[in-house]
Amino acid sequence: MRYGGIEAGGTKWVCAVADGAGLPLETETFPTTGPEETISLATRFFTANGPVDAMGVGAFGPLDIRPTSPTWGTITTTPKPGWANLDLVSALRSGIEVPLALDTDVNAAALGEWRWGAAAGLDTFFYITVGTGIGGGAVMNGQLLHGLLHPEFGHMRIPHDRVRDPFAGICPYHGDCLEGLASGEAEYLAHALVNMICIGSPQRIIIGGGVAKQPTLLPMARQRLSDLLAGYLRVPELTQPDELERYIVTPSLGDRAGVVGAIELARDAVPGNTGSAAGAAGPG
Ligand code: ZN
Repeated sequence: MRYGGIEAGGTKWVCAVADGAGLPLETETFPTTGPEETISLATRFFTANGPVDAMGVGAFGPLDIRPTSPTWGTITTTPKPGWANLDLVSALRSGIEVPLALDTDVNAAALGEWRWGAAAGLDTFFYITVGTGIGGGAVMNGQLLHGLLHPEFGHMRIPHDRVRDPFAGICPYHGDCLEGLASGEAEYLAHALVNMICIGSPQRIIIGGGVAKQPTLLPMARQRLSDLLAGYLRVPELTQPDELERYIVTPSLGDRAGVVGAIELARDAVPGNTGSAAGAAGPG
C-alpha cells in the first residue's frame, strides 16, 4: 500500500507519499496561493510520485465535512481570496482518482499526534495551533471530534479588558474572538485553555503553530492557566508544575503533524484498515 497525504493549510500546503507504515517517502511544501495554482501543484506532485491507493486531506476551513451534506468537501466561509465556497474535494479528485478522506487540518494534526506523537495512548485530548490564525482539533473518547460541523476553538469568545487592551480585534466575523485578538499572548491563550479544560476535560493539550515556538509563551500560559484555575480542579496534571509541563505540550512531530495525520486519514480510508496504524515502525 502507498498513501498520499495533503496538509492543505491556509498558509502552506504539504504533500507527501508514504509507504504502508505511514512513513513519508517524498514530500513537497509550497505556499497557499490561489486555488487553481495550489491545487495543480498538488496534483502534479501526486502524478510525479504516485500512484497511491488512498488520499487523506487535512484542510483549512471552515469546511463542510458533514458526511450527508450535498456540499461535502467544500471550503465555506473563509475570507481567503478565491477559496470561499470552493469544492476542494472535486477539484482534487479531477486529478487524483482514489478513495479520499477529508478532515480539518487541525483534526489531521491531532490524528498524527495520536498515532505517532504526544497523544499516543490517550483517548481525549485537544490539539490547537497558534500561528497567523488559531485552529483546534480534538479526539474525544477515542474518536476525532466532528459533532455538528467541527471544532472552531479559534473563534471562542474570551474575557477582553478593553481598558487594559483597547485593540478591537481583526476577526471579520467577531472582532475580538480569540483569533481576532491575534493571540500570541499568554493571557488570552490561558483563558482559552481554561475554557477547553472545563468543557472537554482533555487528558492533554498540544499546542502547535509558529507562535507556540516562542520559548516564553508556553511557560507563561501554563503559569497563568494555573492561576486562573485557582486550584479548583484537583488533579496532578493541573496542580503540579512538572505535571503541567507534560500536560500543555508542543507536538512531538513538530511541523509534520498535519501531513502525517493526513496520511493516517488515507490509511483509514482503505476498508479494513481503520485504527490499525499505531505501533511498529512509523514516523518518529
Ligand atoms: Zn472570530
